[in-house]
Order: sequence, then C-alpha cells, then structure tokens
Amino acid sequence: MNSNTDYDDTLAVGIDLGTTNSAIAYLDQSGRPITVPNAEGDKLTPSVVFFDDESVVVGKEALKAISTNAIDIAQCMKRELGRRFYDKELGGRHYPPEALEAWVLDKIRRDAGRAIGELRHVVVTVPAYFDEVRRKATQDAAYIAGLELIDIINEPTAAAIAYGYEQGFLNDSTSASRPTRLLVYDLGGGTFDVTIMEIVGREFITLATDGDVLLGGQDWDSRLVEMVADAFLAEHGVDPREDANTHGRLWRDCEDAKRTLSARTKANIPCDFGGKSLRHEVTREQFEHATRDLLDRTAFTTRQTLQAAGFAWRDIDRVLLVGGSTRMPAVSQMLEQLSGKTPDASVAADEAVAHGAALHAGQLLARHRGVPPQFSIRNVNSHSLGVVATEPASRRRRNAIIIPRNTHLPITAKRIFKTQKSNQSSVLVQIVEGESAAADECVQIGRCTVRDLPEMLPAQTPIEVRFRYLENGRLTVLVNVQGTDRWAQREISRDHSLTPEQLETWRTFVTGTSRP
Ligand code: ADP
Ligand code: MG
Repeated sequence: MNSNTDYDDTLAVGIDLGTTNSAIAYLDQSGRPITVPNAEGDKLTPSVVFFDDESVVVGKEALKAISTNAIDIAQCMKRELGRRFYDKELGGRHYPPEALEAWVLDKIRRDAGRAIGELRHVVVTVPAYFDEVRRKATQDAAYIAGLELIDIINEPTAAAIAYGYEQGFLNDSTSASRPTRLLVYDLGGGTFDVTIMEIVGREFITLATDGDVLLGGQDWDSRLVEMVADAFLAEHGVDPREDANTHGRLWRDCEDAKRTLSARTKANIPCDFGGKSLRHEVTREQFEHATRDLLDRTAFTTRQTLQAAGFAWRDIDRVLLVGGSTRMPAVSQMLEQLSGKTPDASVAADEAVAHGAALHAGQLLARHRGVPPQFSIRNVNSHSLGVVATEPASRRRRNAIIIPRNTHLPITAKRIFKTQKSNQSSVLVQIVEGESAAADECVQIGRCTVRDLPEMLPAQTPIEVRFRYLENGRLTVLVNVQGTDRWAQREISRDHSLTPEQLETWRTFVTGTSRP
C-alpha cells in the first residue's frame, strides 16, 4: 500500500487480530515465522479492554476483571467493526469499535517492540467474509494504534500459507507437485468460517468461502453457563446470572471447564452467589449433547460451502483445523465422519493465521527489495458489490450488481451513468454490498460524489464509473466523463468511518499521549 516507503531493515510482521485472542509473529533470519510472546509471556493476547479508573488495561488482566468490573469491559469488538459505536457504554461514553481494537493492537505493538525491536509496518488479517466497511475499519484501527498496514489478508489464506510453509511448498525445490485442495475449518471464540483453497505450485487460490459471524466457542461456553445457572437456580432459588460480576466469573469458570473437557471426560464448575454455593459436575458426554446443535450448524455450513464450490469430499485433499475451538474433540470427530479424512492439525491452531500473515509480510517486503515473490495469492470477493439504481417505472431502489460474489480479485468492472440534466455539475454514486436485489437490504458501504464536471455538459452525457477491487478486498472508484481522457480517482465516503481528524485524535489518545 505504501510504495515509497523504505523497507530495507523492516522486520516482516503479521498480526492476527482475533475476536477473542490476538497474536503476532515475525520472520526470523532464516525466514521462519515465530510467534512473539506478550509482556505476560503468553502467545495469545485476549482481545479484551478494561477501562479502569485511571488507565486502560488490555489482555489477560482485562479478562480477569470480568468477575469484578464486568460493566467496564469491552469484548468482541471485532464483531462490531463497521458500526459507529461499540454497543456497550464504557465509563459513560461510547467508543468506536476501531478505537477499542486499536488498544489491543497498541498493546501488541508495544509488547512485541520490547522483544524484537520497534515495529511499525505490519500485515493484519481479517475474516474472508469481512466486507469493505469492516476492512476499512480494521485499517483505521491499525492506524490509530500507530501502525502502518502494508496489507490486509484473509485469515484462511494466511492459515493455508502457514500450512504451505510447513509442508515445504514454498521452497524452490519442493513446491506442491500437484494441486492440493484444502478445506480450512476455522472455529474461533466468536466466529466460524469455512474456506476452500487450492495450492497450485506456489499460488494460493481461494475457491469459495462462507461462515457464520455469530457462532463460536462462546456459544459453547454459554451452554455450560446455562447448565450451571439452571442447576443453581433449582437448588438455591436464586439466579447467579442476575449479577453481572457473578455472571462474568461463572462464564470464565465455564470456559475453563470447557478446556478441561477437551482433555478429560469430566469437569467441576464452581458457582458462588448470594452466600450460597454449588459445584456442578459436567461430563464430556453431557457437554457434547448440550452443544450438538452448534456443531451441526458448522457441519451444515461446511457441506454447503463444499457444494457451492462444486466439490465432493473426494476432491478435498486436506481438512485444516484452525482456531482454538477446534481443540474440542467433537470437532475432529464430526469432520472425520463428514469427510472420511483425518483432519490435519499440523499447523498450530491459534498461531497459524499470524504465521501466514508474517510470511505474506516477508514476501511483500522482499518484493520491495527486488526479490521475486515466493508465492502468490488469489482471492475472491465474499459479497457482491453494486450500486443503487432507481428503477424508472417503480422508482424502487435496486441493487445493480457490478461484481458478483466469489469473483477472482483483483478485478475492474465498469458501469455507465448518464447525467439527468444539462449543465449538471456533480453525480452521486451509492455503493452497496450484498446479494439482495433490493438496495435497502444490502450494506450501504458508502457514497462517491463526482464533482466538478466540465461546464455546459448536455443531459444524458455518459459518465463511466469503474470499480477497482483489489486482492486485499479494498475498493477504489475511478470516474471518467466519457469523451474526455480525464480519470479521477475518488475516495469513497463511508457512513460510519472516522474522519481523518478523528483518527488523529484517537491515535494520540490510544498511543498514550493525550485524552480526546
Ligand atoms: P478468535 O479467532 O475468535 O480470536 P481463537 O482461535 O483464539 O479465537 O479461539 C478462541 C476460542 O477457543 C475460545 O472460545 C476458547 O475457549 C477456545 N479454546 C481454546 N482452547 C480450547 C480447548 N483446549 N478446548 C476447547 N476450546 C478451546
Ligand atoms: Mg481467529
């Protein structure tokens, strides 16, 4: 993205900014991706922000505070990227989700800086289904955190790159001799994605992608919380969910028990509330029974994505497990039954994405130094992209799709608009993302006003609007008044994004120099 920066001694760094946990990796001198532990010595930093009286606490300590200061905690901000404000009020104020994400990135940047030297240029990953608005918000979060993005890449692609690296496909001599088709099953804490990828030589091609933005490990935790709270209510006549802090503590204990159940066949969950207490034993079998429908939903989406790509299980060479929740034994069992293949756990479930991002950063930096790329990436767009067109007869606002979903990127597509009146000085283009024919059911990603049209233009003058959709899912709009050779590149103005001034204010605030 920044072609004129001097990258000569820049480390190749990738960040997996996760809904639940984030991780950072860099390439060592031999080009191997290494996860950098945070100041607490952990490879994962919980993506949690706690507004303490006088300071902002991020990570494990913030997560701990959920049992004492639940109302002052921000979690799962990633789910709210693209909205103007994070849903919950914190200390009497509403924060933009990208600013909350920036606090997480800021901690990661500082902690890693201590271990590997100050860093600024990074690759950050996003879910494949992230739309333009949320990609832009991610980019803004990085900016606020004092980072400069050299690129954004999709999480499943990053996981596949890490897998390719582990398998030796990125070496000159052993690049994949025949196409290898991967199904990446990523079940994290708050989201589920499934992506079908193909590695051909040293090219990583996304064939199809789908997911469930509101399904993840937390839903498994919630089932345990319900079990214990219901048992508590039945025994003591009071509901521990009534109190936010008790609820918070119970959730943490249940999450812990869930991990125990991945390793052992039973776990005990403590619950204390209103002077009463309970220890509830849950067996793995009970847990799996209580969460079966959640697992079935992932199976359904997996099957559907496979079909959408026009494949049968025999066409898939490897099923790759990514995300912390794939440690639940029921996940591998289900996938094995579904696919007839043993799922591949050769990449570290919660580091692979950051590793792939670092490998991608490495090759972008190398390219700047004139070294030929080691591998290449081909992506598809996960949502159709169009403009609002008014149907002349009904005056209904329709979604005129310009780039259908699952189109290979980068792509340029165009559409001709006509000026309505003579001497019109500007044209408004409204951009939408989504599959519905009704424009109002799609995500409005922004507007682009073409001003300063030449004077005295007759009515019905064609104006060509081109969308250039890059590999990283970012969109630029080019406009040309037909018959002239002037092309103008227009910034899209997005409804909920922060203005450049707001970005600056948040940047100074988050990186620790002032209050906004
Ligand atoms: P995200 O991509 O959402 O940031 P991660 O990939 O880090 O998430 O996964 C976090 C989820 O994985 C959490 O819900 C956590 O409880 C779950 N998880 C981590 N380890 C285990 C385990 N051993 N057994 C079951 N679930 C686990
Ligand atoms: Mg993840």
